[in-house]
Amino acid sequence: MKDQFSLIIGGQSLAGDRGTFKVLNPATEETLAECPFASPEQVDLAVKTAGEAFKTWQHSSDEERVAALNAIADKFEAHAEELAEIITLEQGKPLDVARFEVGGAVAWTRYTASLEIPVEVIEDSDVRRAELHRKPLGVVGSITPWNWPLMIAIWHVMPAIRTGNTVVVKPSSMTPFNTLRMVELMNEVLPAGVINIVTGEGGIGSSMVRHEGIRKIVFTGSTPTGQTIMRNAADNLKRLTLELGGNDAGIVLPDADIGKLAPRLFQSAFINMGQTCAALKRLYVHDSQYDALVEKLAELARAQKVGSGMEEGVTFGPVQNAEQFQLVSELVEDARQNGARVVTGGERLGDRGYFYPPTIVADITDGTRLVDEEQFGPALPVIRYSDVEDAIRRANDNPNGLGGSVWGTDIDKAKAVAARLESGTAWINNHAEVLPHCPFGGCKMSGIGTEFGLDGLLEYTQNQLINISKG
Ligand code: NAD
Repeated sequence: MKDQFSLIIGGQSLAGDRGTFKVLNPATEETLAECPFASPEQVDLAVKTAGEAFKTWQHSSDEERVAALNAIADKFEAHAEELAEIITLEQGKPLDVARFEVGGAVAWTRYTASLEIPVEVIEDSDVRRAELHRKPLGVVGSITPWNWPLMIAIWHVMPAIRTGNTVVVKPSSMTPFNTLRMVELMNEVLPAGVINIVTGEGGIGSSMVRHEGIRKIVFTGSTPTGQTIMRNAADNLKRLTLELGGNDAGIVLPDADIGKLAPRLFQSAFINMGQTCAALKRLYVHDSQYDALVEKLAELARAQKVGSGMEEGVTFGPVQNAEQFQLVSELVEDARQNGARVVTGGERLGDRGYFYPPTIVADITDGTRLVDEEQFGPALPVIRYSDVEDAIRRANDNPNGLGGSVWGTDIDKAKAVAARLESGTAWINNHAEVLPHCPFGGCKMSGIGTEFGLDGLLEYTQNQLINISKG
């Protein structure tokens, strides 16, 4: 990884007015590199520059934007290994998972390029022709978290640019380098000012949310931050897409083939060390298979090789940061104190790096913090139930509503249960799978709006009805 990064505003590389801040490698707790620290004045400059670029980019042809996105995807492919290494070094995930993230970034970029922006003819009669057009909004502000930093930035930025908006990006201060590099590569393709990046700690995101020159904020992160953003975005009625926290429940029905499904259940819960918005975070298992499934999950947990994501053969990296590590440790400790059985893991590994092994917690139930709160880390509570109705009630008895899943052999029965989950996505015999063509978003406190597919693309546009009188 190179050791110097700059803000990019209007195609120019700039140092941060406030100097730099340190970014740690979670596997060593040592400084990985210094990141530019932007001032609120630089946020203002970035927004104004994006506003200038919008004057021409909004009129760019469809062909030009499609070609630009495909050329960007080519650049990402050419730099895939470099991007994956940056992700592993700052985020912690094993290199293969980082490669998967870069592959996802390329796939989403190409898919977004392939979408057509529709013009709907609502009426074409002797009296009038009414056409519904979709126009870009203006400057879009993207604010991203630290768990899938590159992929989530792509989810925000590509549909915005595809529909003729210009963008200011602010990545998490814990994982800024992959996004700085992404914006550098994109600037090799796009006209100056179409995409700009500001990095910094505290305050930077808030300056963006309050800025009058931004027409929409797309935010992925925690629910409390999303609520603050919604309050602060009110002054100029910014459009919002908020992808927030989740506490996804899975229900294993009595007829589930747990021998076949256990590895997928494990993967759904522990992907990215459990730091995935729509990971499986509470697992309800029917009494008849409870002990057997707990043991299978424990076997899979014990088989993981925990270590630095850069090391060959490692399947499980560190937690990304000290605060998250502390939260996971605290929730598992609280469960233990309340009589739960920690079947695997449950203790820090080593004294350097935020290593916490995959932890299976059994004999636990609702009302315990590890079940009720979002752990966003490598600890899965497995909860016993005997009545499916009761499991559905408990799965829904949570303020979050991002995803949910049902696991069973009789698909009609599983589907009937899935339809009753209060969640934006309900998977059957799977969980946490997101796809570029399938709309995704949360209900209840998990967010507002949709990403992916045509529905997601159109969130970056506003309607304009053209009404042609024929009289
Ligand atoms: P976070 O809310 O702490 O931070 C997210 C981003 O918001 C960071 O860039 C941060 O600097 C910025 N920010 C903080 N305060 C701000 C403010 N007042 N105004 C504007 N920006 C501000 O979230 P995190 O800890 O980085 O990420 C973990 C959370 O994200 C989890 O709750 C997880 O479930 C959620 N998440 C949700 C999805 C989804 O699609 N629903 C996807 C990934 C992560």
